[in-house]
Amino acid sequence: MNTKPKGTYDILPEEVGKWQKLEDLIRKVCKLYNYQEIRTPIFESFDVFHRDQNDSSDMVTKETYDFLDRSDRKITLRPEGTAGVIRAYIENKLYVSNPVSKLYYLGPMFRYERPQKGRYRQFHQFGIEAIGSKSPLIDVETIALAKSILSGLGITDIKVKINSLGDSESRENYKKVLVNYFSNYQDCMCEDCKTRLQKNPLRILDCKIDRGQDFFIKAPKIKDYLNEESKNRFNEVLKALDGLNINYEVDDNLVRGLDYYSHTVFEIEANITELGNQNVLCAGGRYDSLVKDLGGPDTPGIGLAFGIERLLIATDLIGKKLNKLENNHVYLITLGPKAQLEGFKILNTLRLGGLRCEMDYLNGSLKSQFKKADNLNSLFTCILGDEELENFKINIKDNTTDVQETIGLYDVYKYVLNKLMANNKCAKCKESGDKNETND
Ligand code: ATP
Ligand code: MG
Repeated sequence: MNTKPKGTYDILPEEVGKWQKLEDLIRKVCKLYNYQEIRTPIFESFDVFHRDQNDSSDMVTKETYDFLDRSDRKITLRPEGTAGVIRAYIENKLYVSNPVSKLYYLGPMFRYERPQKGRYRQFHQFGIEAIGSKSPLIDVETIALAKSILSGLGITDIKVKINSLGDSESRENYKKVLVNYFSNYQDCMCEDCKTRLQKNPLRILDCKIDRGQDFFIKAPKIKDYLNEESKNRFNEVLKALDGLNINYEVDDNLVRGLDYYSHTVFEIEANITELGNQNVLCAGGRYDSLVKDLGGPDTPGIGLAFGIERLLIATDLIGKKLNKLENNHVYLITLGPKAQLEGFKILNTLRLGGLRCEMDYLNGSLKSQFKKADNLNSLFTCILGDEELENFKINIKDNTTDVQETIGLYDVYKYVLNKLMANNKCAKCKESGDKNETND
């Protein structure tokens, strides 16, 4: 028997409800902030992700799935969403119609990593990109959106870590200072950091191995090398965060994994011990040169990405239930072939009228059909036998009150709807009830 590839998993029907609820919440919040969905290919040309020889991030150097297609084109499965979205932004000239494009994506990403809880080879990300504005307010808006998603899930014990990498002048100055400083400590550095020292010294600060060492802690801080403009900009971001009452912690060592970031970078951590090293739920930053690097006009941008699996794990860990089985409206039990065919037609009409319905397709016993009705949390169970059929009648049981009545065969829809309205359980009310649930 074939089994699933390492680092992948199946989302089974009993799990998929919480994915859908989270996706609904994401779409709702994106609408509030005026972000529109964009869907780009799952594979792109190799160069979309491997454009910079000096990019030393693990994701680009060690984790991508690269292959040649049957015509020897170099292809990469997307490891993240931003590069593909920017490629599409440029190729479709989205900048012509909109000076600021606010886009979001949701879908699978691929990284060849060591699988563990919250870390997979095929995983899912939701991300946003705001392209076209330099305003510090838009940086803060992305963080506010992220917070809205988290509070929609009930995840409120979080830490927003933020830093500024400044403009390219500030970064170049700081890099020189860092190279000077770390050159004295090469003997104490891990192998990856030795390479980073040559290729991109900033990334040393991101190292999870050397982090605790004395020389690392005492390294020069970027805040002391930001030029006036970058400093002012960072202060404006912090002021706007204060304005929205968003708590944050400035983290001098936060540089983020990718090499294209400038000015604002941030991460949101959940304070949930069981998440261990996988407690970063969301990460983002400003990328003012990326659009140009990918061949587009000189356009600033900022984005963030959430790992969907980690969001779901975090939601589980705080005890929030997203996958409560929705009620089936009507389960139809039929006895005999004639009743089955007539019942099948009635069910179809109920569905056309917007009710969720099910019947038995296995010719099961009465007992097994009642059991199925129960398993589906059916609000009503209809029972139709040949005798009822001859009299154009049907039995219907309200499972919330256990009251059973015999009604006209073609009155089921009206009967159910009246009852649902009386109990405030019409399809619409039910929906808003669900939304409140994920919103508190
Ligand atoms: P980490 O340091 O945990 O490897 P990262 O810096 O590689 O994270 P990003 O590239 O910023 O992560 O991706 C954004 C988010 O996507 C992460 O915060 C995380 O929630 C999620 N994520 C990243 N890699 C994986 C993975 N292999 N499996 C599941 N989720 C992931
Ligand atoms: Mg990673």
